[in-house]
Amino acid sequence: MSDYEQLASERLASVNSKIAHTAKIAGRKASDINLIAVSKTYDAEAIAPFISAGQRVFGENRVQEAQTKFPALIDQFGALELHLVGQLQSNKAEDAVALFHTIHSVDRESLVTAIARASDRLGKRPRCFIQVNIGDEPQKGGCAIEALPTLLEKARVATLDVVGLMAVPPADTEAAPYFALLAKLAHDHGLAALSMGMTNDFETAIMLGATHLRVGSALFGDRVADHA
Ligand SMILES: *Cc1c(COP(=O)(O)O)cnc(C)c1O
Repeated sequence: MSDYEQLASERLASVNSKIAHTAKIAGRKASDINLIAVSKTYDAEAIAPFISAGQRVFGENRVQEAQTKFPALIDQFGALELHLVGQLQSNKAEDAVALFHTIHSVDRESLVTAIARASDRLGKRPRCFIQVNIGDEPQKGGCAIEALPTLLEKARVATLDVVGLMAVPPADTEAAPYFALLAKLAHDHGLAALSMGMTNDFETAIMLGATHLRVGSALFGDRVADHA
């Protein structure tokens, strides 16, 4: 095993053991918590050791970047579960539906329509999270909290497979209140899945009900050029 393969395997084991430990404290089953390894900016060579170490679920924030890396990895290792965690332009919806198992960034009616159309054309329905702009930040993706009921209704009519809500809380502030708010919104709308928690706050997210953790740097290391 190379040093990097060793490191990848240790980092993965460390994150998984933190998830198991926190789940236990929360009285939850670790198997109800999905770790999405966010591999954006890292190439196929850097991703492969994580697959060898047992990780099959990966997240990317750009459709085109994922297209350059994952088809070859899937050829080599077999099926992987891919999650799109970044903003999606409607004109890339068909490419996204073709490649991704789950889309976490559905945040507007035009995108609901584009995904529904792509799903019909490809005969493939990705799972979807509605992204909520939970901190009401002007520069952030996600629908406004007030717009959520209308967007959910639109998605229901379009027969999107909406499984839950996703959010990225404001940076440099305590995430817990935002996670709690997202959990309340999901509960109010009868949605079971919660995509929340990243490297710095995934344990808090587990305590507040997260079902899908999106963890990048704790696994791959700090990103040099972050284009999140
Ligand atoms: C990059 C990214 C992550 C992972 O962030 P880390 O802090 O590196 O764990 C999670 N979610 C989204 C939407 C991202 O863009």
